[in-house]
Amino acid sequence: MSATNTSLTPVPVWFGGEWRTLSDVATTPVHNPSTGEVIAEAPLCTAAHVNEAVEAAAAAFPAWMETPPVERARILFKFKMLLDENFDDLVRCNTREHGKTLVESRGDVKRGIEMVEFACGVPSLLMGEVLENIARGIDCESIRQPLGVCVGITPFNFPCMVPLWMYPVALACGNTFVLKPSEKVPLTSIKVAKLLEQAGLPKGVFNLVHGGREAVDALLTHPKVRAISFVGSTPIARYIYETGTKHGKRVQANGGAKNYVILMPDADVENSTRGVIEAAFGCAGERCMAASTAVVVGGAEKTVLPALVEATRRIKVGPTDREAQPDMGAVITRQHRDRVLQLIEAGVKEGAKIPADGRGVKVSEAPNGFYVGATILDEVQTGMTVAKEEIFGPVLNVMHMEDLDKAIELANKSFYGNGASIFTRSGKAAREFKHRVNCGMVGINIGVPASMAWFPFNGWNESFFGDLHMQGKEGVQFFTQLKVTTSRWFSYGEGDIWHTEAKK
Ligand code: NAD
Repeated sequence: MSATNTSLTPVPVWFGGEWRTLSDVATTPVHNPSTGEVIAEAPLCTAAHVNEAVEAAAAAFPAWMETPPVERARILFKFKMLLDENFDDLVRCNTREHGKTLVESRGDVKRGIEMVEFACGVPSLLMGEVLENIARGIDCESIRQPLGVCVGITPFNFPCMVPLWMYPVALACGNTFVLKPSEKVPLTSIKVAKLLEQAGLPKGVFNLVHGGREAVDALLTHPKVRAISFVGSTPIARYIYETGTKHGKRVQANGGAKNYVILMPDADVENSTRGVIEAAFGCAGERCMAASTAVVVGGAEKTVLPALVEATRRIKVGPTDREAQPDMGAVITRQHRDRVLQLIEAGVKEGAKIPADGRGVKVSEAPNGFYVGATILDEVQTGMTVAKEEIFGPVLNVMHMEDLDKAIELANKSFYGNGASIFTRSGKAAREFKHRVNCGMVGINIGVPASMAWFPFNGWNESFFGDLHMQGKEGVQFFTQLKVTTSRWFSYGEGDIWHTEAKK
């Protein structure tokens, strides 16, 4: 399809401060998942386009690096104010291209803004350290300097927040940036970039390319790219890490997940039901911190589990691009809906029970939307396909264990390691769980323990490839390199070669 069809929302690139709609380039459709309509055609940028973006970022780097950190932060303050002023517009755009509810989009945009708030304070984290007299008359100091051109490659599920995990901090540290958002949701990133422009960011400091594998490969191998931040599925995260590091880049790559929620027999029924429903079905389960497996321990199968099933059956699915809001929206594409449905089928075929069945959901006001109803698969066993694969849809697996030890053992068998939660009234059980569970973000009576901007987004195992995570101090470390200077100053005349020469 042609990118010049005028009924579609344009998807321009932004290179060196110039917005440009590319012609003569292959495109890929962007949908409104609520209705199934094509709303835009995203250009699939070639290696030549990527080269233009990287060259623009490289040309802007020397001046941006020399811009005092406080001046860089002032632009980010302005950017944050513009994000607040345009909040509703961003929320609507996010919902239109992603399908999540307006409430969920507000969360997406708000968490993104928090990253900008964090980045405004980055100058204090850029400060170095000094030790006087490491030997007599000799001092040693470390300073943090930016890397150069940094790159962000992002997934479809948080069109606003995930790109903002990366570039506000990178820019605050003095780097220039090239973002390649998901080709499924390019529109929110364009709106946000226009606000960066309005905030007064110099030309070329931030650049936007669109596309898929060709664009990604060109970014991973470009000699002027110094660092790559990636968020997406585990196989691609591994590929990004391996290819990027092989080409000498610093890489942080967040992958997929399968998160366990332990429901203890003493868990508060109302609060834990609300927590698990939110965690499993929020954003239609398209969250790397979604609760994908509830582990019901002992008596909880007679208390929390029936309440969970009942609440799941009540979840209303529907279009989110209008005033009347459902509880849950569509999934991202028709293909993804079909994949989720196939996985549910596989679960049932392999012996799981299905007390809440979202397969046959009908949405009469939007019959072409990509809907799957909220589903619970009970009595899931470790060997089943649904226990192994990240479903990334509104499906909650339920497994049964007799005690906490067995539940922790089960959670720790997962090869992922983003998050895990426990619902209990026992401090002892919570402490034991926190100490022993094999993942990087732990929730206690909280369903989605996604850490906020000031803490690292802390995946472990196959959920993360790299050393320094996004967000918080680790984010600042990732986007800077330390320089250590050791210095000695002679007193005038003593061992001063020029002085000695002058006296001759
Ligand atoms: P994805 O891996 O398909 O795509 C992510 C990015 O990689 C996109 O920009 C895409 O264009 C690019 N890409 C896709 N295939 C590629 C290939 N073969 N070669 C090079 N680049 C390629 O992920 P998605 O479907 O957009 O997002 C969902 C996934 O992201 C889930 O697995 C989810 O768990 C994960 N995710 C993880 C986190 C986290 O912080 N751990 C956060 C959000 C989403």
